[in-house]
Amino acid sequence: MAEHREPPAPHRLLVVEDEPSIRALLESTLRLSGYAVSSVESGGAALLETERFGPDLVLLDVMLPDLDGFEVTRAMRAGGKKTPVLFLTARTDLSDRIDGLRAGGDDYVTKPFSLDEVLLRIQAILRRTDAGEPPPGEPDGDDGSILLFADLRLDERAYEVHRAERYVPLSPTEFQLLAYLMANANRVLTRAQIVQHVWGYDFAGDVRIVETYVKYLRKKIDCVEPPLIHTVRGVGYSLRLPRDRAPGTTETADATEAAER
Ligand code: CA
Repeated sequence: MAEHREPPAPHRLLVVEDEPSIRALLESTLRLSGYAVSSVESGGAALLETERFGPDLVLLDVMLPDLDGFEVTRAMRAGGKKTPVLFLTARTDLSDRIDGLRAGGDDYVTKPFSLDEVLLRIQAILRRTDAGEPPPGEPDGDDGSILLFADLRLDERAYEVHRAERYVPLSPTEFQLLAYLMANANRVLTRAQIVQHVWGYDFAGDVRIVETYVKYLRKKIDCVEPPLIHTVRGVGYSLRLPRDRAPGTTETADATEAAER
C-alpha cells in the first residue's frame, strides 16, 4: 500500500536554540525525520540565517542570549518574511505575547517538550503553509468559511474566533481543533478521530495530546458560560450545549475536566 509518509520533500527547518544539548537533539531528530536542517544559537544569527538558508519553518527558542524569540520574529516580519515560527518556550514565557504573534501562522511548544509533539507540530504547520493557508476544518463547500455554534463564531478565512462577540486568540492547532469540533457540533468525536483530523498522521501513539489541547481550548473558549466543550468519558469530546443544568452551575465541565487531571 502506498501510504504517504511525511515529510515528502525535504522542507528546510532552522533551529534557533542557545542550549547546545537541545539544539543537537533537535537537529539530529529533524535530520533523521528527513528535513534539511540548519541551526544557530542566537537571535542575531537567526536573522542572518533566515536570509541565507531560506527556511520553511523556524523553531525558535524564546529565551536567547541576545534578541529574544519575539524580537526575532518581529524583525523577520518587519523585513517582510512570513516564515512560520514554532516557538520553544518555558511555561513561564507563555503570555499573551505568543497569542499576539499567532497571526503569522505561529505556534508554540512548551519545554520540556516531547520530540513527537514537536514533529507533529512541524508537520501541521508545514501542511498548512504548503496548502496555501486555509486550515483543514471540515470541507463544507467553497463558502463554508464561517462556522457558528451557540455564541461561538469561527471564520476560517479571517482565521478568527469570537465567543459572545469577544475575540479569542487561538494558536493554529487550537484553531483547527475548534474548527473540527464546530463542524461536528453535537456529535461525539473520538480522540483518535481528532488526532487524525487535526494532526493528520497515521495514529500510532499519544492521544494525550488531544486532552492537552482540549484543556488549552477550554481555558480560552469555555471561560464564559455555558461550557460548550464536553468530555464523553471513555470516548472523546463533543461540542454542544450543556444538557438540563441550572444556569450558574458548572458541574459538567468541571466534573469532566477534573476527571481528566
Ligand atoms: Ca534558551
